[in-house]
Amino acid sequence: MGNRLTIVSPCYNEEDVLAEAAKLLGEILDKLIAQGKIAADSKILFVNDGSVDATWQMIKELEHKSPKYTGIKFSRNFGHQNALMAGLKKALPWSDMVITIDVDLQDDVEKIYEMVDCYHAGNDIVYAVRNNRDTDSKFKRNTALFFYWMMKKMGVELVPNHADYRLMSQRAVKALLEYREENLFIRGIIPKLGFKNTKVYYARKERYAGVSHYPLKKMLNFAINGITSFTIVPIKIMLYLGIVISTLSGLCLLWVLYSFLTSHTVSGWASVMMSLWFLGGFQLITISIVGTYIGKIFVETKHRPRYIIEEDDYTQGMTNQLAQ
Ligand code: UDP
Ligand code: MG
Repeated sequence: MGNRLTIVSPCYNEEDVLAEAAKLLGEILDKLIAQGKIAADSKILFVNDGSVDATWQMIKELEHKSPKYTGIKFSRNFGHQNALMAGLKKALPWSDMVITIDVDLQDDVEKIYEMVDCYHAGNDIVYAVRNNRDTDSKFKRNTALFFYWMMKKMGVELVPNHADYRLMSQRAVKALLEYREENLFIRGIIPKLGFKNTKVYYARKERYAGVSHYPLKKMLNFAINGITSFTIVPIKIMLYLGIVISTLSGLCLLWVLYSFLTSHTVSGWASVMMSLWFLGGFQLITISIVGTYIGKIFVETKHRPRYIIEEDDYTQGMTNQLAQ
């Protein structure tokens, strides 16, 4: 196995943390090169996901400062997952291993040493797993726990408390890129790839600066996307609930007939209203669940590009390097 490393880091309006992240990651890269654990032309690749602040200018400045920094610029904001995919795809032909890490320094960058060691020990995938989420709000922690529990119940294997901080070998990245769905939920696919893998543990910190780009609405969308991309269990649950409710209503009908025949009066507009509202709401929910899946088919059939690259200094740099 070769040992050229590319660190892929998506950035969206990160002018406040970029300099510090670049400094820390750069130091780690230098140390690893000095130790002979990675190739001398290993790189840090920032994927600028349509930032509207000075992020891209700063990446350009870093490129001028040292060839170890490089960047790709999207034509607009395409989202975190797409930024990761773009970075992985660009890095693939040139890299023996890729590490993806958020630029906000919430993930412990020092773990990179251990991850590289794990790669040299023969692992294709190294998951960095948070062993404490003290810095996340109680709400975020609990919703995350609930999400993992629910996904597991529905048969989707996720590595709990692992986000997108991980190392992948070239062949693992190549396998990941074979998954061509538009709505990509990367951390759900990786465990499906197989390959020898291991975990390293770290404590997640507060953001170094700036604010989270994952407000509640985005988190909810992310979860719904995760579920509907991997399983049709919700549709099955709807079917079973439908059967149960129809059976109950059949029994209810028998009871109504019985009371009519024995006492000639059937009372209760309240129960009629209740079941009307209940069934109305229930039907709306089931239809929208089915609709979500159909909507996904609609989106997938269009085969639209996941992202559009405006500038690609990374490939440019690598080609120049090769030509020399
Ligand atoms: N990010 C991105 N595009 C987006 C939103 C976020 O590239 O549309 C990047 C962001 O710059 C950061 C990472 O994805 O490096 C994770 O985002 P954030 O820290 O806001 O999420 P959180 O850690 O709060 O879940
Ligand atoms: Mg963050």
